[in-house]
Amino acid sequence: MAPDVIVADDRMAAIRDGLLGWFGEHARNLPWRLTRDPYRVLVSEIMLQQTQVDRVVPYYEAFLARFPDERSLASAPTADVITLWKGLGYNRRAVNLQRAVQAVVDDLGGIWPQTVEGLRALPGIGPYTAGAVACFAFEQDVPFIDTNMRRVLHRLFIGPDFPEPMATDREIVALADEAVPSGSGWMWNQALIEFGALQCNARKPACVICPLQRQCAAFPDIQSIIMDLPRGSGRKKESPFEGSNRWYRGRIVDALRSAHDGDVGGIPLLELGAIVREDFSPDHLPWLRSIVGDLARDGLAAIAEEPAAYDAGQMTVVRLPG
Ligand code: SF4
Repeated sequence: MAPDVIVADDRMAAIRDGLLGWFGEHARNLPWRLTRDPYRVLVSEIMLQQTQVDRVVPYYEAFLARFPDERSLASAPTADVITLWKGLGYNRRAVNLQRAVQAVVDDLGGIWPQTVEGLRALPGIGPYTAGAVACFAFEQDVPFIDTNMRRVLHRLFIGPDFPEPMATDREIVALADEAVPSGSGWMWNQALIEFGALQCNARKPACVICPLQRQCAAFPDIQSIIMDLPRGSGRKKESPFEGSNRWYRGRIVDALRSAHDGDVGGIPLLELGAIVREDFSPDHLPWLRSIVGDLARDGLAAIAEEPAAYDAGQMTVVRLPG
């Protein structure tokens, strides 16, 4: 494929009109679509990473009820933020969110950067989130892509994305850049996300009732390709394998969260081991110490003891960070 996908003007115009028209009729009334507050947009974008819209809505509302603005989140104990995150998973997102907001409040005097570059300079903010905040809070006509947006762009402009994509990420990013309509970036990017979620989803795109059939490069083939795919060959949501270190990380954070919730404070390392692992013995201490050390480096745990006492296990107390 050529380095950049060339799209004829009339085809581009037809796809834009079709997608924006579809969005006008089908857009869900989601709370983060009613605001241009960068703090609220960032909270929604971080929560929506790896979590479905329906699950995010109640967490988003509860989070904003507890931390209604950037100053309330920046000054909160991290333990409270991690505790409120319970049930959403991927706890590092809570720590990263607070760190980014603290950088805005403490380093930038509460003034949000409005450019993708400025937003990317905040801790823990990657290219997708920076683009999404620049677009959805500051209405900048910027491109950004996640898995769902990439899939929609690929199908519409290039062809079926199964069994292998026909375009590279670089080509799709160039395409996303070309496709953003001047003055309508907010609407366009929201439409791409919504279309990928409701109409052109990964395994069962609703091609038969799709208003973009005529423009879609994938339409002539995609239904037969998908029907021929072996069952279960689509991308699956990654879940931590029971017994893996990632699984134990989640159990440890849950135990620390319960202790924080119950005002118990910290948990001695040996006790923590027995909580998270039925067969725990002192032989497991180096393993547990290593996982707790990783959690502390990620900002998800605090170790309250002298390093010399840490080896002993009995003297080491672990808690959520303050
Ligand atoms: Fe997606 Fe099918 Fe519509 Fe093409 S025709 S955009 S593959 S839903």
